[in-house]
Amino acid sequence: MKTLDDLRNAVAEAELVLVGIGEEFETDWDRMRQTEPYAEWIREIEEKDGMGWLLQYLRADYLRQYKEKETEEAYAGLYKLLEGKNYFLVSLCTDGKLDEFAWKENRIVSPCGGYTRMQCRGCQGMLVDAIPYVDEVIHQCEINQGKLEQVKCPVCSECGEPLAFNNIFAENYDEQGYLPMWDIYMKWLQGTMNRNVCVIELGVGMKFPSVIRWPFEKLAFFNQKASFFRIHSRLYQMSEELKGKGVSIAENPIVFLRN
Ligand SMILES: [Zn+2]
Repeated sequence: MKTLDDLRNAVAEAELVLVGIGEEFETDWDRMRQTEPYAEWIREIEEKDGMGWLLQYLRADYLRQYKEKETEEAYAGLYKLLEGKNYFLVSLCTDGKLDEFAWKENRIVSPCGGYTRMQCRGCQGMLVDAIPYVDEVIHQCEINQGKLEQVKCPVCSECGEPLAFNNIFAENYDEQGYLPMWDIYMKWLQGTMNRNVCVIELGVGMKFPSVIRWPFEKLAFFNQKASFFRIHSRLYQMSEELKGKGVSIAENPIVFLRN
């Protein structure tokens, strides 16, 4: 059975390290449903019509109030593993927890967006800081307990359309939030050709396979010098082409990295 030491050795030998972080790292939103005051508010939101938009604001607030110690320790382990290396991180998470570490500049791309910026349905390309809107909505929830339908959905100051968080749950996801970083990632990827690159997948499932899983497999397959590690609690199986080359580790990556 392959261990963290095998991964450490592969990273140490590699010139470049590409890391994909997947669904297994996302904040556990079920925990929010068991935490007050969110639990109470969610019950009310689900009983009434047309209030689904509020859930995203509760998530944004929950993210700044609560930390998941295990995930944080796992990221700290990853940070240590990558110290001094030339790396790039691609994350499917929307919770922004990865951003709390001092990674090298311009080395993280999060194509699913997050909860720190707002977008407008009408004004594409215009992103604004989410904090004042979250503060206001949460304040409104606190003073309107039991009558949350009174809470007003924030609107765009330019056109009056409702604002939404700049993430994949937005009705009209504005990809300008991550595309500039995606371009930097594509250039970095070009630099991996014919070089010893260690490709690591951490808890990446099949939710958006075209972002991490498939392109990572392809890279590992075509690059003769690449090594490939897939760590997942359930979806750890290796594709036929990569059997023999890729390493499957059937373990929760959070547990794995905390060691
Ligand atoms: Zn607008």
